[in-house]
Amino acid sequence: MSMATADRQEVVNFGCRLNIAEGEAIRSAVAAAGARDTIVFNSCAVTDEAVRQARQAVRRALRERPDSEVVVTGCAAELEPDSFASMGARVVSNEAKGLVGSYLSKASLFPREGGGPSPAGAISNPPEMGSRLRGDTRVYAPALSGADHARAFLGVQTGCSHSCTFCATVLARGAARSSTIDAVVASAQTALERGQREIVLTGVDLASYGDDSGTSLAALVEALLALPVERLRLSSLDPDRIDDALFALLTQEKRVMPHVHLSLQAGDDMVLTRMKRRHRRADAVRLTERLRAARADIAIGADLIAGFPTEDAAMFAGSLALIDDCDIVFGHIFPYSPRAGTPAARMPQVGRGIARERAATLREANARRRHRWLDAQLGRTASVLVERDGRTGHAENFAAVALAVPASPGAIIDVRLTARDGDRMIANPIEQDIAA
Ligand code: SF4
Repeated sequence: MSMATADRQEVVNFGCRLNIAEGEAIRSAVAAAGARDTIVFNSCAVTDEAVRQARQAVRRALRERPDSEVVVTGCAAELEPDSFASMGARVVSNEAKGLVGSYLSKASLFPREGGGPSPAGAISNPPEMGSRLRGDTRVYAPALSGADHARAFLGVQTGCSHSCTFCATVLARGAARSSTIDAVVASAQTALERGQREIVLTGVDLASYGDDSGTSLAALVEALLALPVERLRLSSLDPDRIDDALFALLTQEKRVMPHVHLSLQAGDDMVLTRMKRRHRRADAVRLTERLRAARADIAIGADLIAGFPTEDAAMFAGSLALIDDCDIVFGHIFPYSPRAGTPAARMPQVGRGIARERAATLREANARRRHRWLDAQLGRTASVLVERDGRTGHAENFAAVALAVPASPGAIIDVRLTARDGDRMIANPIEQDIAA
């Protein structure tokens, strides 16, 4: 959860990097609408826990700020508009979250009603939304996060054209839609002009970038590398969609960070089949072996779900062993939670208790693997992008670093990794801002 406030205009982002990036577009739209005393919750629906957190936050805001305009958008609002509307919040669709019209005062949207918050349960689609429906095939406007981070999150596509059986995101975001390469390059330029020296590309199904416009993620990365960008990082990728061109960029281009995050989800073929995933266990192992053979310092991250319906102990053992077989050092590990409207929710359930236990087991194994990986870097040098706090940062392989002495925020510095403190390395700066 992150918060940006100005003049009691607040945007609260939940969930993924794409939502955080879109949060900036919401902030600009709220400001342009001249909305006073407004709080916008940009919600997530990846798990029912995420939806519960959004509901709790909206309920608290309605209780504690009765005179404020409380707006909820994002995936949870998209999937459950009535439940938020019945609380008294204004609901804005994902499609309309970046539009100024979505935040116009009630007076301009509901002229008969006079001042104060919108009538309870208002679901507003601003005039410029016209008859646009979810999943409209228009081009996606790139979403660039704010300047408050040393790294810029750049959303380049939304939606997804796959139908994994556990996934609610595809229900909330509609079909896959990409931004144009020119528009993404322009947004990247903005980030560079703001002094952000690392750009993180993100989306719902990033690897499908360009499928709807006759281009590809590799072509987009090539276009961005024509800019003086120093560090380019890619968010979660479908292992089935890493073609030769993208593989070459990930393994041979120095400015593409040696850190690949894969949406693997499970380590058992029967589970992958029931998830309707496109890859199989052996594909994941082979891909990560090829990546590490082509670029020795590459770090592997992965999304994993524990306790998917019908997963038995032997199937789970396959996911647990995947941590070592794919050398996964960064795990985004979730216990399965049934999402209304998804096929998996209708399958025989394993049970929340077992799902949580298995997720905890996976996280422990992942932490052990990560600590071994971090310990192997002791004494080495690394190039670190310093965060806005001047005391922490990330190495190129995404290892988290705490600096023994402060450094200038947003700088890229060379450090020596001297110790490990839990999940992060302690480092001494060797040289201030090698690039300046
Ligand atoms: S690839 Fe699957 S999990 Fe990912 S957004 Fe699409 S349907 Fe959901």
